[in-house]
Order: sequence, then structure tokens, then C-alpha cells
Amino acid sequence: MCTQNVDDLHERAGSRNLVHMHGELFSSRCELNCGVPPFSDQSLYETVTQIPKCACGAKIRPNIVWFGEYPLEMDRIMVEIDRCDVLIVIGTSGNVHPAASFVHWANQRNRPGAAKVRRYYIGPERPLNAAAFTEVILGKAGRVLPKLFQIVR
Ligand SMILES: [Zn+2]
Repeated sequence: MCTQNVDDLHERAGSRNLVHMHGELFSSRCELNCGVPPFSDQSLYETVTQIPKCACGAKIRPNIVWFGEYPLEMDRIMVEIDRCDVLIVIGTSGNVHPAASFVHWANQRNRPGAAKVRRYYIGPERPLNAAAFTEVILGKAGRVLPKLFQIVR
């Protein structure tokens, strides 16, 4: 599962095997990506001098993808899209890339012998990339998903 959300609501709901492509609000990492992995951090730093240093000596920063930065784990996301049979996209505008491109990648994959990916959108409003989906289902995910899971099994 891949989310653009930076909160921990998926984890609190029990989601597993999750990619936070835009990072995680409650963790920090080295500003130089020196190789020290991100770590859980819910501290409030009120001044610059309070911001701790990484083991390499650089400052730490929120483990969030800022505008203009490349989303996290894109290689893993592309591998999963390439091997999926069903792509379910929930509640996005279809306007922010690269996430808005996931449905196109699934639709255009060219693996020999692979079946077409069934691509479902669920959300309260029609997304801008609606034409790329097998089906667009307007409604709240909590109501639509249980029915959809029965259909796509
Ligand atoms: Zn570092």
C-alpha cells in the first residue's frame, strides 16, 4: 500500500507493508541522507539550537518530502504497480504527479503475458485523470471499499 499522507493514521488503523511516498510527520532524518535511517521523533524544537545533530554531524530535518523534492521509495512503488492485478486509488485529485501517474503506469505496463490491470478510483469527486480508470466509484471509501473488495476477489 502506498499513501501520500504524512500522518500515522494508516499505522493506527493496522495497515501493513506501507510506503509513505511523501514521508512521515512523526519521524526525522539526516538532512544530508548520509545513510543513518530515519527515526521516530515527536519532539518540538522551538529554536534552531535545539535541533539535534545526526551521527555524521549534519542537522536533522523532518522526514517529509518538500515541494520540489523527489518522493520516497519510487522504485518500490513502480515494482508493485508493475506486478499488481488490481490498482485501487482512493481520494486523490488526480492532479499531483507522480501519484497521478500511477494509474497510467498500470494501464501501460508491458510485461509479456500480463493481464490488464483493473484500475478503480474511489473518492467523493471525479479525479482529473478519471479516463484512465477501469471504473470510477464516487463515494466515501469507508462505504465503497467493502463492496469493492467483494467484487475484485
Ligand atoms: Zn547524517
